Amino acid sequence: MADALMLITRCPSCDGAGWYADEDTDESRTCEWCGGVGYVYRDAESIDHRIPPSDYERLTPTLERLEIERLREMGYSGEAKKPWEQDVRKGTEGGVNPYRE
Ligand SMILES: [Zn+2]
Repeated sequence: MADALMLITRCPSCDGAGWYADEDTDESRTCEWCGGVGYVYRDAESIDHRIPPSDYERLTPTLERLEIERLREMGYSGEAKKPWEQDVRKGTEGGVNPYRE
């Protein structure tokens, strides 16, 4: 299975946040690179690929672990909030839990 060679790595575009603030309008925008997941597959050639929604469920434990690591790095010691749980994303495309159908 080709998946075995895939690493899951923090999205280089949004640095794991899944979104970024638009510099002009200050609005939050879903990261187009990772589709708002915050993480991407990195293959054996170090090429990044968006994680397809069909893989989210399978990857949930891994993504949650990575998210906790990321928040710790940022000095955040509280509970990990997934991008779609963040208040800033409520009512936006990014506020929808991609793990739900
Ligand atoms: Zn991203």
